[in-house]
Amino acid sequence: MRQIDHIVLHCTAGPQSQTIDAIKNWWKTGLGWKQVGYHILIKADGEAVRLAEDEVVTNGVKNHNARSIHISYIGGVNKNGVAVDNRTPAQIATQLRLLREYKEKYPAARIVGHRDFLVPGKPGYKSCPSFSVRDFLTKHAPELL
Ligand SMILES: [Zn+2]
Repeated sequence: MRQIDHIVLHCTAGPQSQTIDAIKNWWKTGLGWKQVGYHILIKADGEAVRLAEDEVVTNGVKNHNARSIHISYIGGVNKNGVAVDNRTPAQIATQLRLLREYKEKYPAARIVGHRDFLVPGKPGYKSCPSFSVRDFLTKHAPELL
């Protein structure tokens, strides 16, 4: 089994109406990626769509993919493209369910947000997933911290 150090939460930084096909097409033809960006995408209605098996390395955080699981919700920006936490209650419920499952599968892994790997103000910084994972877990699932 692949060693997993981090379970990383993301947003797609696009409209909540984005389709999975549009997102996958952007990775492939827009960015030229050979692999998908995340293992699981969470739609606005809370449905979790698996894009890759856990054993497969995906492309969520540059230089941190070999030992990571990446989970993203669709959304994370307002209509002007500004970062905003617009997760639906259904998306939050699915995040918590998946995080509990993954923490059981990989007890040593830390749950973090994409931005926790980055330094504010430095090139390449992004606010993904548009909320503080630490605050989120503290409030909803402190046992996962
Ligand atoms: Zn991200």
